[in-house]
Amino acid sequence: MRSEIIVDLAKLDGNLNAIKSRLRSGVKVMAVIKDNAYGHGAVPIARHLSSQVDWFCVATLSEAIELREGGIEIPILVFEIPEVQDADKYLDYCITATVADISTFEILKAGTEYQLNFDTGMRRLGIPEEDLESALGLFNKHTELICTGLYTHFSSADEPNNESVTKQLDKFRSFAGRFPDQLMKHTANTGAIFYYQDLDVQFDAVRPGVCLYGYLAGESETSDLTPIIEWKSYFMQTRAVKKGEPVGYGGTWKAPEDGIVGTIPIGYSDGVQRLIGGKFQVEVNGILVDQVGRISMDYFGIYSSKSNIKQGDIVYIFNEKTLNPKNWAKVLQTIPYEITTSLNSRINRSYLKNNRL
Ligand SMILES: *Cc1c(COP(=O)(O)O)cnc(C)c1O
Repeated sequence: MRSEIIVDLAKLDGNLNAIKSRLRSGVKVMAVIKDNAYGHGAVPIARHLSSQVDWFCVATLSEAIELREGGIEIPILVFEIPEVQDADKYLDYCITATVADISTFEILKAGTEYQLNFDTGMRRLGIPEEDLESALGLFNKHTELICTGLYTHFSSADEPNNESVTKQLDKFRSFAGRFPDQLMKHTANTGAIFYYQDLDVQFDAVRPGVCLYGYLAGESETSDLTPIIEWKSYFMQTRAVKKGEPVGYGGTWKAPEDGIVGTIPIGYSDGVQRLIGGKFQVEVNGILVDQVGRISMDYFGIYSSKSNIKQGDIVYIFNEKTLNPKNWAKVLQTIPYEITTSLNSRINRSYLKNNRL
């Protein structure tokens, strides 16, 4: 096995508890496990969470079908706008569609469940204010479809005290107020759950995504979320290098002293971007060593000036402590979401339960 991502399900439970501790009583959890559960493996994560949450949310119909075929029976909401040729599948697999565009009313099959997504300021998907009257009319007309909820998505809840959150909330309340009161309502992503508890963002349910996997949206830190993955590999080969000898494509890095170079079978196709080349460390035998040279498609190298590494030695790319997607995101000026979703699905993933595989 070239490398392995180890997902600690006890830590996932810990993160879920951190979320639940912030919820009012009776508020449901709709766990967002789109994009292969942010790279962590959708079906195993879903199987583990399905007894602890009320709903799953995914980005695409095919992700929802993968869950149903993986034995997941709890309700699943798909965020994307359905395509005409797929309308049957929502019904066949008992998947909740999103109506974010009034044209969707015409394509869903009788008996399909759906929720209305309102655009209250994100300007991405959702029924815009100018279509609200038409949406209300079609909602009343299409009684062969089953509406189960109303939702919206915040553009800027990833930082505290952003006034757009209040504006979007006001709009959502006024849009939702036009529809029957018993429909479930939800708005809150990670940022809203952690930063906007005071603003009544929770309604009937919340939609936590990145926090489940141990990361907060935005710059802040919180002590009760823990990254749930480690990433482990080994030296496929090691070799002695002489001072001044170039290593890797382009020979852009040269050994500062005589030492050893170890080659790890992970590359940019696995999710280690070329841009992070030379800017991170890995753990070998309890010690941090520098990554050196360009990242190749399937390999990267590390250098040690001491002769303390050898072929076959285990290497941690992410460990339990400081090496994790949060730090990579800082170096790459991006967000942990992009790091974990970039982990290629070809990488073997295993799941630790009560500290056992
Ligand atoms: C991705 C997504 C979420 C979850 O967002 P996080 O910031 O990861 O918590 C919630 N709702 C919608 C509509 C989304 O697309």
